[in-house]
Amino acid sequence: MTKSPDTQRCGWCHRPFDQLPGAGRPRLFCSRSHRQRAYEARRRADSLKIPAGQVIVSEVDLRSLHDRLYRLESAVEDVRADLSDHSGAKAYREAFDHLYDSAKDLVGMVVEPVRE
Ligand SMILES: [Zn+2]
Repeated sequence: MTKSPDTQRCGWCHRPFDQLPGAGRPRLFCSRSHRQRAYEARRRADSLKIPAGQVIVSEVDLRSLHDRLYRLESAVEDVRADLSDHSGAKAYREAFDHLYDSAKDLVGMVVEPVRE
């Protein structure tokens, strides 16, 4: 499965979604709840005078994202080193498994702006 870079993405969760056929303005969010969350986050940012294009995220969420990215980055380095020493189907399979284990922690992760 490939995802087109042109696919419409939700303004809140950034996941791709399909536009409903028919007239009307294109939707910017995948669901009403995500439109509402974006509105609340924007209102919160406005009340705190946060400049446009910037958001507040929780330190816990940000740390969790950084931990997972660091784990993936380390796995990429491991695999680069391993495959420079070994080649063949077994080495590539092990490299894939190592990368997959690290990358799967990022699947489904969403860092949401603080809303209240
Ligand atoms: Zn969404």
